[in-house]
Amino acid sequence: MSETADIVVVGGGIIGCSVVYHLAQLFEPSVRIVLCDRGPIAGATSGSCMGHLMVTPDDPQAYALTRTSVDLWRELHDRVAGFDYNPTGALYLADDEADVELFDVLRQQFVDRGDSADLLDPKQLRELEPGLAEDLPGALFYPGDGVVLPMLACGAMLRGARQRNPNVIVRPHCAVTGFERDGDRIASVVTERGSIATTTVVNTCGVWAPMLAELLGVQRLPIHPRAGNLAITGHHVSPIRTQLLEVGYVRFAHARTEVDPTGASGDPGGHAVNMQPQTNGGCLIGSTRQFCGMQKQVNRELLWRSLARAERYAPGIAVAPIVRTWVGLRPYSEDNRPLIGPWPDIPGLWIAAGHEGLGISMAPVTGLLLAQQLAGEAPTVDVTPYLPGRFAR
Ligand SMILES: Cc1cc2nc3c(=O)[nH]c(=O)nc-3n(C[C@H](O)[C@H](O)[C@H](O)COP(=O)(O)OP(=O)(O)OC[C@H]3O[C@@H](n4cnc5c(N)ncnc54)[C@H](O)[C@@H]3O)c2cc1C
Repeated sequence: MSETADIVVVGGGIIGCSVVYHLAQLFEPSVRIVLCDRGPIAGATSGSCMGHLMVTPDDPQAYALTRTSVDLWRELHDRVAGFDYNPTGALYLADDEADVELFDVLRQQFVDRGDSADLLDPKQLRELEPGLAEDLPGALFYPGDGVVLPMLACGAMLRGARQRNPNVIVRPHCAVTGFERDGDRIASVVTERGSIATTTVVNTCGVWAPMLAELLGVQRLPIHPRAGNLAITGHHVSPIRTQLLEVGYVRFAHARTEVDPTGASGDPGGHAVNMQPQTNGGCLIGSTRQFCGMQKQVNRELLWRSLARAERYAPGIAVAPIVRTWVGLRPYSEDNRPLIGPWPDIPGLWIAAGHEGLGISMAPVTGLLLAQQLAGEAPTVDVTPYLPGRFAR
């Protein structure tokens, strides 16, 4: 195989699929876009994760990014459909009165962004979610969140791309193994099925983004795998109907870590509960965080602790059959912000990676921002904090 493409996107997870979707919308249908993945589409992290579409209000930039993206998910569902999308909102839960104080902090953050969230007393909480423990001291309800099934969403994005542009080519089971250069510039992408002549490459390889960049001589792209253990129940046994998470989750999950992200110092890991109702009536339960390299063996102790927390909030989980457990690898960037934009030292190399535990939430806005930069259009959200050049030396 020897072919040409205007743009080659490498990595068919949720980020690569969203990049392809938005490139297809912004560029003329004559533009040839090839997506390569070494495995199946959504076969890596995007097929081993949860699908909480989460708006994070902790700072104005993160809010702008996540709010815009979660809105884009709704538009995508209206336009393309064909994937599970459930705008349940999110319930932040407290274990005791000490946790309740965090509700005010979080609620105020939403208010500061011009948004709102509602405090529920124990009676209102029980009315909304009768399957929760009777002694819970209330909750904070944020109506803007939702849940998607990421694997089907990847397929929907690619269908939507091809509807607009028949020159979108999707090539699973086609690993990129190298590049050819013409001076500084990229001249072609070498795959295990032949070369594709192109001057523009988008690296959407998630935790493997550093390895792909290294093939182009980028010595250090600071993205590290952060493992998460998950468990799912059988169908039709979920004790809950709303996306739930314990209020401490926000601090635990979205802060920049104090732990060595290379995993070299032996991260003991941690957990905070996140529970997601599935459209089949099952319940997906997460989620732990641990830097332990690329290994994907279930950490039984961490997962067990996570399940015990789930039972604390929703006692019915104790009797629900757990039918599968597994591990996914979040792509954590060293400042816990994604990289979206050009790599300054190599003309033609673009990066969209490093979304840690919010890649599903942020996928639509990431694809849009990358496509807008490539098309020379003004970005919908300020991209400055996300430009990969902050890590270039
Ligand atoms: C346990 C867990 C729970 C999560 N829960 C949520 C959640 O509720 N909400 C949320 O927003 N996010 C969540 N996330 C985060 C989210 O899953 C990730 O941020 C997102 O899936 C990353 O997508 P990606 O496309 O960057 O990477 P991936 O999905 O890993 O895609 C990268 C692709 O690149 C391909 N690739 C690599 N090297 C090559 C090569 N040389 N040639 C060709 N292809 C290559 C791989 O095969 C892979 O398919 C969770 C993650 C985990 C692990």
